[in-house]
Amino acid sequence: MALLRRKKKVEPVEEVVEPTPTLPDPPEPDARGLRSMEAHRDYLLGLVEPLPPFGMNLLDAWDLALCEDIASEVDLPGFDNSQMDGYAVRAADVAGANQGEPLTLPVAGSVAAGDESLAPLPEGQAIKIMTGAPIPEGADAVVPFEFTDRGSEQVKVFEPVVAGEYVRTKGSDITEGTVLMHRGQRMDARTIGLLAGAGIDKVLARPRPRVVVISTGAELVDPGRRLERPGQIHDANGYMIAAAAKAEGCQVWRVQAASDDPEVVREQITDQLIRADLVITTGGVSQGERDVVKQVMPELGLCDFAEVAMQPGKPQGFGLIGEDKVPMVMLPGNPVSSYVSFQAFVRPLLRKLMGIEPVNHEPVRAIAGSVMRSTKGKLQFGRAVVRDDNGRRLVDLVGGHSSHLTGDLAAANALVLLGEDVEVVNPGEAVMCWMLDD
Ligand code: AMP
Ligand code: MG
Repeated sequence: MALLRRKKKVEPVEEVVEPTPTLPDPPEPDARGLRSMEAHRDYLLGLVEPLPPFGMNLLDAWDLALCEDIASEVDLPGFDNSQMDGYAVRAADVAGANQGEPLTLPVAGSVAAGDESLAPLPEGQAIKIMTGAPIPEGADAVVPFEFTDRGSEQVKVFEPVVAGEYVRTKGSDITEGTVLMHRGQRMDARTIGLLAGAGIDKVLARPRPRVVVISTGAELVDPGRRLERPGQIHDANGYMIAAAAKAEGCQVWRVQAASDDPEVVREQITDQLIRADLVITTGGVSQGERDVVKQVMPELGLCDFAEVAMQPGKPQGFGLIGEDKVPMVMLPGNPVSSYVSFQAFVRPLLRKLMGIEPVNHEPVRAIAGSVMRSTKGKLQFGRAVVRDDNGRRLVDLVGGHSSHLTGDLAAANALVLLGEDVEVVNPGEAVMCWMLDD
């Protein structure tokens, strides 16, 4: 049949042109070509997703954020029990007791924490009871040892108790159905204790982010090693930023790329991608001729380099690197700049990865103890000490604005945020601060 023999028409295969992947459009810079700190931070936050949660042992979830609401399936305590070592009684049987005329009750038995079957309390008698032991049927109060002669066959009671006294009733701590923890809440020792007490051994939480901190710069030498050539310095950032990431709850590796050679830096960074949920580099992102991070990263992923209207911390880089699009924050190299940038950008990103709210620092108000000066047109982060002054939060700057002053940074416990339009703050005026040790 002719029809069947007809040659099949070959559909031309349309060449699929993959669009060159790019990052979403960054926020518009202002007339000076600068981005605000908030706009940059929010842009970066839009580029990362929380890490997927998994079920884990209660203790392994310490410091992590829960991904579920957990309601109690039990009452706590689960049964009425004694709050004291003493005697379980009917309050009515000891109502008339006093120091001058003690009442004597026969002791029908004894019960300790963990004992299971109990005889009911016979009328007009007492049962010796230890803290945490179930209250025998018929008893409604406990007379502590201290109010008795501690007798074994019979007991003299010197003080009355009222019904319910020294009894911890079923459900008086937690009732069944009570939400013990909410999603997004971070597990601490107390909440772990609460869940354990309610019989819960596994929770759904987001894991600790795996963070690699890479310090770059040909001048860097590891602390503990001798500076051999003039111009060398010890690597402060690698340690500082690694510690800051640990303080946020991350699992951290520190790597040093003591080079400004693009080949070396590219290889060092590529080697780290496999084990990282986030990579942080320091150095090599400003305007210098050896700003190697800025040079090589666009070959390895989608990058954004910006100038942010803040001081310190103006040059900032971000990328989604490699096939897995691992987020990478490229911090400037001056130690104070790198630390301030960590607080402004990395901390929120880590908290988003961990699913912890709020992601951003919540500024607190403090009263300037002395005059503060700032450059107009930039958000200035002053290193400062906040202290309590008779219930008032008082803040003073430590040292100058230069971003190499690690001594002052170490002495600070807060950053004062002096906004773009602030030139001077007089003593007694209010300023907003980020507390660094919370
Ligand atoms: P960069 O951003 O690489 O141009 O570095 C700016 C300044 O920070 C230079 O003075 C560097 O020597 C210094 N610096 C860079 N990385 C570190 C580091 N890991 N530790 C201490 N200082 C650093
Ligand atoms: Mg450098």
